[in-house]
Amino acid sequence: MSDQVRLRIGPSPTGDPHVGTAYIALFNTVFAKQHGGKFVLRIEDTDQTRSKPAWEEMICESLQWLGLTWDEGPDVGGEYGPYRQSERGPIYAEHINMLLEKGAAYRCFCTAERLTELRAQQREQKVNTGYDGHCLGLSADEIKAKLDEGIDHVVRLQVPKDGQTTIKDHLRGEVTFENTQIDDQVLMKSDGMPTYHLANVVDDHLMKITHVMRAEEWINSTPKHVLLYDAFEWDPPVFIHMPLLRNNDKSKISKRKNPVSLNYYKEAGFLPDAMINYLGMMGWTMPSGEEKFTLEDMVEHFSFDRISLGGPVFDVKKLTWLNGLYLREQEPNELFNQLRSVVLSDDYLQEILPLVQERVEKLEDFVDQTAFFFSGDVAYDEQATKHLMAKGKTVKEMSTIFKAIGDKIDAMSDVSVEGIEAALKEVIAEMELKPKHVFMPVRIAVTGRKASPSLFETMAVLGKERCRRRLRNAIAHIKQNVK
Ligand code: GLU
Repeated sequence: MSDQVRLRIGPSPTGDPHVGTAYIALFNTVFAKQHGGKFVLRIEDTDQTRSKPAWEEMICESLQWLGLTWDEGPDVGGEYGPYRQSERGPIYAEHINMLLEKGAAYRCFCTAERLTELRAQQREQKVNTGYDGHCLGLSADEIKAKLDEGIDHVVRLQVPKDGQTTIKDHLRGEVTFENTQIDDQVLMKSDGMPTYHLANVVDDHLMKITHVMRAEEWINSTPKHVLLYDAFEWDPPVFIHMPLLRNNDKSKISKRKNPVSLNYYKEAGFLPDAMINYLGMMGWTMPSGEEKFTLEDMVEHFSFDRISLGGPVFDVKKLTWLNGLYLREQEPNELFNQLRSVVLSDDYLQEILPLVQERVEKLEDFVDQTAFFFSGDVAYDEQATKHLMAKGKTVKEMSTIFKAIGDKIDAMSDVSVEGIEAALKEVIAEMELKPKHVFMPVRIAVTGRKASPSLFETMAVLGKERCRRRLRNAIAHIKQNVK
């Protein structure tokens, strides 16, 4: 192991930049800085169907917004690149061959149908679902024949059928897993792409990562990783599994219950320092118990013994309170600049004004006409509440419609006028609705008003975060207020 402390995060660019990524990035950064080490950004984009460059860009931008920067990464380069897994194919192929030669992995030719049937049987018999080792017994000749025939195959990790695997977690000590509970994990898919497990272990080793600090949800993957380190005869890094962020009800943080996109916090005008401070409070406390602290304070005072494993609740109310403290401390000039760069930025104003130009007679009319573009939530008065409901639809049906639209918007990396129009029309078609079931209720949901500029354009300008949140609020509102 090199003397220098090296840490990394490995986000997958498959969705909006998540608060959990920032949380883990923060603790990695703090530890690296405290030890004069390096912090690496590695993009884990082996899932080619779900990964998008636009998501990668957003992840980078939001970490930079928070002031979390990396010493090595796809944009800045470094000694151990490439830092995007999709560009490291030959490295994984070479390592898969090493495992096959050592007998630590094997080729599996089972069809998807066989695996589905196997799982169904296992469920019925109430035994662990996992691969049954069917292809383990294939002889060299049989394998060769199948390869010659060009039959699709994956490569699996050969997990011992008895005994135990023990991992060492820096916060929890030793954790032991029965090998019968560990699946013969697929390491390389039939398209030749590695899975997370193989790519992650190979890269952590080759990038000389000394400490793997990641969220607790990966702890069950760690025995597979430890088996891989053993097979390669490599020293594993120190594993530190940080407690998972939770919703108020203690369930794992989710977008259904909390805004989780960093874009939301940025657009709503949370300040980066307040975000960093709040994320630092997730599972960790300052020795003084002081709640207000900076990244530098963390670097000075961080120690693992102050991490508490009880799931920290990501409480937007508390974050908002903390943000208020930071906001009130700003010099008026600083605050002015914040306001002008976020909620009242030139770009945003220029997108809005053309939408209402037709509707105003005096400049001051702009204010009233555009208020809903600037507020966080919108209020629904009695009239609005009535129009949130399409004629003949129940609260449940309307909720499903709003949710379907929210989900479509959620999947977009960029909301354009055309994208919104397509999303609404798809929902109309898929749910066999009439336009009137959708357009007016959605207009009310996102603007609070019956009359607004063109719905598609309005939604595109409002942006993904505001639209989604208001659709969610509309659901909550009708559930509470409509009989
Ligand atoms: N690609 C994983 C993620 O999306 C990385 C997990 C790890 O840090 O090992 O979080």
